[in-house]
Amino acid sequence: MPDIIKLLPDNIANQIAAGEVIQRPASAVKELLENAIDAGATEINLIVADAGKSLIQVIDNGKGMSETDARMCFERHATSKIKNIDDLFHIKTMGFRGEALASIAAVAQVELKTKKEEETTGTYIEIENSVVIKQEPVAMQKGTSIAMKNLFFNVPARRNFLKSNASELRHIVDEFIRVSMAFPDLFFSLTSNGQQLFHLDKGTLKQRIIQLLGNTYSSKLVSVQENTDYMNIYGFVGKPETAKKTRGDQYFFVNNRFIKSPYLHHAMMGAFDEMIGKDSFPMYVLFIDLDPSQIDINVHPTKQEIKFEDEKIVYAFIQSAVKHALAQFSITPTLDFELDASIQQLDAINKPFTEEKKAATTSSSLYQTFTQKNQAHLIERKSELKHWKEFYEPETKPGSESQKPEIDPYKSEEEKPFQSLITQIQKPEAEHFLQLHNTYIVLQNDKGFMVIHQQNAHERVLYEKFITAIAGKHIAVQQSLFPATIDLVPQDAVLLNELLPDLKFLGYQIEPFGNNSFVVQGTPADIEQGNEKVIIERVLEQYKHFSSDLKFNQREKLLRSLAWQQSVKAGTALTEKEMKVLIEDLFACNAPNITPNGKPTYTEFKKNEMDKMFGR
Ligand code: ADP
Ligand code: MG
Repeated sequence: MPDIIKLLPDNIANQIAAGEVIQRPASAVKELLENAIDAGATEINLIVADAGKSLIQVIDNGKGMSETDARMCFERHATSKIKNIDDLFHIKTMGFRGEALASIAAVAQVELKTKKEEETTGTYIEIENSVVIKQEPVAMQKGTSIAMKNLFFNVPARRNFLKSNASELRHIVDEFIRVSMAFPDLFFSLTSNGQQLFHLDKGTLKQRIIQLLGNTYSSKLVSVQENTDYMNIYGFVGKPETAKKTRGDQYFFVNNRFIKSPYLHHAMMGAFDEMIGKDSFPMYVLFIDLDPSQIDINVHPTKQEIKFEDEKIVYAFIQSAVKHALAQFSITPTLDFELDASIQQLDAINKPFTEEKKAATTSSSLYQTFTQKNQAHLIERKSELKHWKEFYEPETKPGSESQKPEIDPYKSEEEKPFQSLITQIQKPEAEHFLQLHNTYIVLQNDKGFMVIHQQNAHERVLYEKFITAIAGKHIAVQQSLFPATIDLVPQDAVLLNELLPDLKFLGYQIEPFGNNSFVVQGTPADIEQGNEKVIIERVLEQYKHFSSDLKFNQREKLLRSLAWQQSVKAGTALTEKEMKVLIEDLFACNAPNITPNGKPTYTEFKKNEMDKMFGR
């Protein structure tokens, strides 16, 4: 038998490795930005074209590379950041694996220009399929420019997996925000197809947060700051009134690295307990600095997960630091005094943190009572946490966006259990309607009576109306007499652009107006006119809220968001005529008995069963 094992050629091995590091344009953006930061740059410009599919370029004024390094940096495991395994436990840089540039060079055409301060000329290198195809000296300022063109040009299968430009650009913007948030003392810009989306002057963290997340947070930020020997916590949380129904403005950084942690998010939610609604998310940008030996950074670099040596302590610290901050700013007059005092006395907050102290603190009864209900295994069991987990999962699986939108109201998972009910009901024939608590509509038919939840009912009606609209029966538009211009933060502008085509079917005539501005030419004829900006912002917010749901594609999420948003809310008084129209519309629906999310719209009370109850 002949031998059959072969070593893979370098470029193929690199392509395979690239699958882990570079999944999409945004992952390359992250790697290149981090390299610029590691190189000590103070000004970093990111330029993308076609959402990074045709070009991603990062230009920095960092320390640059020598001619030899410029060639070396594309080799696998080529790094200047660690020399031995011990270094791994003291990592202060963003990179350390030496895999990013090798991966990028395997899946894109790369042009590198770099020069060190002390050298007279720089080096220009062109690479394709991991092979240097051109090298020459170049005149330039100190720093580095790396341009990667035509990502996945040689791996068509992966290129096909990329999503729409709007969607990939949104990932890039997210990544850009995460990196630039952590370094407010550096200048960053992001230009997409020639349009500058961000221009972030150097400043304080507070200024950076406002630059990135919008003016609405100015004067609404509470500073968090707790220093101990074990760890430092600093950053800002939004005052409770800024909490939103959508996630999105939540950032944890550990040693300046953005991380996702459902566990720590839970700690944060606990700190805001009672101050915000159950379904709201507080805004936070929180930095945790601790000895690198206390964390395991050697997890997959793009997963943004991290292991703490002692997770419970970090949990308790965060929660107490934030409670403390909120109490100090007397955001919360209801915060009970005992707890406030006890937090301040907590050794962990006051005293230098030694191993000994750590042991003493953790065994103290105070710490025990403080953390008991927050211990990992206890929380795990709560269904709540499952929710937090989903919170962070990617929005959709790769490729799922290209699936056919599923708009058959009978197909959705939750609706099945209710199916059997549909056949049992018949259209009620009532003349008079009674509204109770401005929420329930009671109506009588010959078999008994039914109680309808007005908001749930209206959500169903709107949802089915939207389905018909998307299928081609456009919703009537009311042209605005004075078209309103709305300015959005860049990340919302990108999202809105993505939704525009579907919104048009649904009666929203919105046109991009450059620089994150839009002109609202018209809104659906049957919704209240006047405050276009608020309407659009609510649509976006609600859409983001639904984005935690993995099951649904973009269109389905939009339909559900709009149905919820436009529905008449519980607590609204309705006229008899409005009730009549609502009920007629409801029973003209394909699935009148449930909301798009599977909540019941009404309950029936049968006369013969009632008779039995009363012994008749
Ligand atoms: P890592 O960042 O893990 O070391 P990379 O593949 O990202 O691996 O980069 C390899 C090496 O190339 C880095 O260690 C660094 O020495 C050099 N390098 C990369 N980007 C830059 C840059 N923008 N400026 C200066 N040096 C850079
Ligand atoms: Mg790197």
